[in-house]
Amino acid sequence: MVVGKHRPTIETVDLEAISWNIQQIRKGLSPGKKFFAVVKADAYGLGAVPVAKKAKEAGVDGFCVALLDEAMELRENGLSDDFIMVVGPTEAEDAALIADNGISVAVTATEWLEAALPYLQERKTDLPVRVHLAIDTGMGRIGLRTVEEVKAFETRLAELGGFVFEGIFTHFATADGEDPTLVERQLTLFEEILQAMAQRPPIVHLANSAISLWHEAFRTDAVRVGIAMYGYNPSDTVLELPYELKPSVQLDTQISYVKQMHEGDTIAYGARYRAFEGEWIATLPIGYADGWRRDLRHQTVIVDGQRCPIRGVICMDQCMISLPKEYPVGTKVTLLGENGGIVNNPSEMAVTIDTIGYEILTGINARVPRIYK
Ligand code: PLP
Repeated sequence: MVVGKHRPTIETVDLEAISWNIQQIRKGLSPGKKFFAVVKADAYGLGAVPVAKKAKEAGVDGFCVALLDEAMELRENGLSDDFIMVVGPTEAEDAALIADNGISVAVTATEWLEAALPYLQERKTDLPVRVHLAIDTGMGRIGLRTVEEVKAFETRLAELGGFVFEGIFTHFATADGEDPTLVERQLTLFEEILQAMAQRPPIVHLANSAISLWHEAFRTDAVRVGIAMYGYNPSDTVLELPYELKPSVQLDTQISYVKQMHEGDTIAYGARYRAFEGEWIATLPIGYADGWRRDLRHQTVIVDGQRCPIRGVICMDQCMISLPKEYPVGTKVTLLGENGGIVNNPSEMAVTIDTIGYEILTGINARVPRIYK
């Protein structure tokens, strides 16, 4: 994708804030618990390599990604010896690549082991595939679901050469909600499975950000923290954060065009907005093709410390806003983050458009240049 370098729309990622958040979250964990930084989807859109390097400096114990390619990106960019786990599915045909690169993978079935076995012959090393068995305790996504299945898996893995049983994990569906019922049910099922195993694998993990923040007491060896590390509340606005986190994303642009309207003048496709007499309308060089979604059109952006409503639908590359008075072309406009003491937090904005902060963050795409501070 072409990066818009000749346009004043810029995403600034505060790596110091990420580092600070890691320290904060670390303080809330029991001693000895490993901290795996979740940097999948290009670190939630903030840049996997710079974020992972900063997180490493801040003392995390490893990384979680969703795709094998994301793991390889880290391996090939300086994270050559670190723990990296692919938490999503991988192809059995890639077993040699996985093993040779020392990558840990989520495995969801005995069939995967059987299917991977022939491909292990292609290894250039004698490294094993590091297996983390996925348990589906209620997320309904990936993993084994019964004690019998897990025992059969454990037996088969021990019989086959080329694999090491490094970990076991589950993922919670409602840890960011007010009702603990499903969390408790998922935890009970997971513990039942652990108890039934011949041997507890060395790394037992289940905690995403929500569990790490609000249910840290669960007895595990590691946490997998994503959104909280980036400074955002995993529940958006449902639960209060137990301690402060610093948002790490600032998305700014500049006014590219300004005009004063007459009563009834129309704005954008569908002419859905009609201006009032004398309304100052500014055009911004950002649109839905940058990830500034069409359904954000009832939100405000910030100019000179004041909230300014978006007017009309958001176009592919541009959108329009209402100004309280005339501001010149080139005036800074903040879409996410802080401007003059006023803050646009993606978690809070998400609630009004029936999504989650994660989707707004990951949505801002590579067309928007990213800089780091
Ligand atoms: N673990 C798994 C398996 C995930 O899929 C995710 C994110 O979706 C995480 C951990 C991190 O979640 P969070 O960003 O809520 O911390």
